[in-house]
Amino acid sequence: MAFTIAIDGPAAAGKGTISRAVAAHFGFAHLDTGLLYRAVGRKMLDGVEPILAAQQLRPEDLGVDGLRTAAVGQAASRVAVLPEVRAALLDFQRAFARRDGGAVLDGRDIGTVICPEAEAKLFVTASAEVRARRRYEELLAGGAVTDFETVLAETRERDHRDATRADAPLKPAADALMIDTSELDVEAAVAAAISAVEARSLERLKG
Ligand code: C5P
Repeated sequence: MAFTIAIDGPAAAGKGTISRAVAAHFGFAHLDTGLLYRAVGRKMLDGVEPILAAQQLRPEDLGVDGLRTAAVGQAASRVAVLPEVRAALLDFQRAFARRDGGAVLDGRDIGTVICPEAEAKLFVTASAEVRARRRYEELLAGGAVTDFETVLAETRERDHRDATRADAPLKPAADALMIDTSELDVEAAVAAAISAVEARSLERLKG
């Protein structure tokens, strides 16, 4: 049986952690769709034309080192404005969403464009300052040399590009449940997400 949980939201809101935990809780497969755009962004930085890179993307491209860096994140959000890049990545994401046994997909447009029929939709957010602080600490822990103001400016720049692009902009689906993680620790955010999915499933069973 197919059951899709769509988890959207801006960078560093906690989507990845929540998605992995929700997938493990329900025994569903998980796809971090940002990795697809990061892999295309990485190839663009290596000189490959981004539309071609998206059309030729292979599963092993998602496993290469260095996809999580800030530079690759910025490159990902630049290639993500191209409708042809988004179109090339669509079928793979839709097939994943409807696979047997349930799927959790996290990204920016899962509930709005990739899987508008998802059984449960969450929009995970947090203030730009809180998200930049988390990203800054992650980057420092990974050995990067940077400062908080730079990370905050990059966070705002990426938010702006993601939310204002013409094709599949970052925005909550009308029927998404909102989770603001600014004041929540990981356990509380995961618990809120699991109860939101359970509440949605019960509503569907009743309705
Ligand atoms: O989530 P992550 O930070 O890895 O995503 C990198 C970039 O990929 C985002 O800033 C966004 O521009 C793009 N993206 C997207 N649609 C998705 C997932 C990611 O446009 N479903």
